[in-house]
Amino acid sequence: MDVLKITPRGYCHGVVEAIRAAKQTAKARPGEKIHMLGYLVHNTHVTDELQGSGIDLVDRDNRLEGLEAIDGGTVIFTAHGVSPAVKERAQARGLKTVDATCSDVVVTHDLVRDLAERGYDIIYIGRRGHPEPEGVLGEAPGRVHLVQDPQDIEALDIKNPKVAVTCQTTLSIWDTAAMIKLVREKYPQTEAYNEICRATQDRQEAAVEAAKECDLVIVVGSERSSNSKRLVQVVEELAHKPAYLVDTARDIRPEWLAGKTRVGVTSGASTPTQLTREVIEYLEKL
Ligand code: SF4
Repeated sequence: MDVLKITPRGYCHGVVEAIRAAKQTAKARPGEKIHMLGYLVHNTHVTDELQGSGIDLVDRDNRLEGLEAIDGGTVIFTAHGVSPAVKERAQARGLKTVDATCSDVVVTHDLVRDLAERGYDIIYIGRRGHPEPEGVLGEAPGRVHLVQDPQDIEALDIKNPKVAVTCQTTLSIWDTAAMIKLVREKYPQTEAYNEICRATQDRQEAAVEAAKECDLVIVVGSERSSNSKRLVQVVEELAHKPAYLVDTARDIRPEWLAGKTRVGVTSGASTPTQLTREVIEYLEKL
């Protein structure tokens, strides 16, 4: 099997920083209770390793609920960010905090807060149930409207002449452009702020380009990872090639490769390099 190693792939700066912050916290506070409020980054291997170094995972439907389950010590806010209400509640409960929010997500929080203060209604393109929208929506409750698909845009009823649109950092570049276009058709006065991060854009563009020269693409990443799933989506929709998400080399099914000679390999922004290396080695041996 000819294996095309797609670059860039794997860890982004936000993930590297978040892991470093969590590991440093565990090292600096031996014997203390340390909790991560949700998956630090959306990869089970990374969180398993952190749990092995003594950091407890508190995974609840929302961050405020999770906070109530913590009975003291230090809480680490994950790379996806948290709402101001979570930070205030943690402080009120006397918990020590470590904020591992990615700097790119912080930029979106600042933007949304600023727009709300200046009287805008903000349409936020994102995925329901993902922690990043939960945090951003909390910057201006009632003023940020989460939309996931065109039906959500149709259902909007904003009377405010000041409208802005922005988005989650890890969406498909192409989907988001189409959604922004729909918003502008409905509210022509809309100011658009595309907040898809550079790491996501670079990985998607590289995957689509490389996929054109491959029979299929394997994306190494977790089912929880938004940016990994978007890599599968953009390869399928833009390059019209089959794409599969695998957590490890063991998930690769022989029938995907039958009659194929060239496979592209990429990985999500929170996928450890070792897992991707194992997938590449497995494919190269075929
Ligand atoms: Fe930050 Fe983008 Fe990485 Fe998410 S994918 S942690 S927003 S750099």
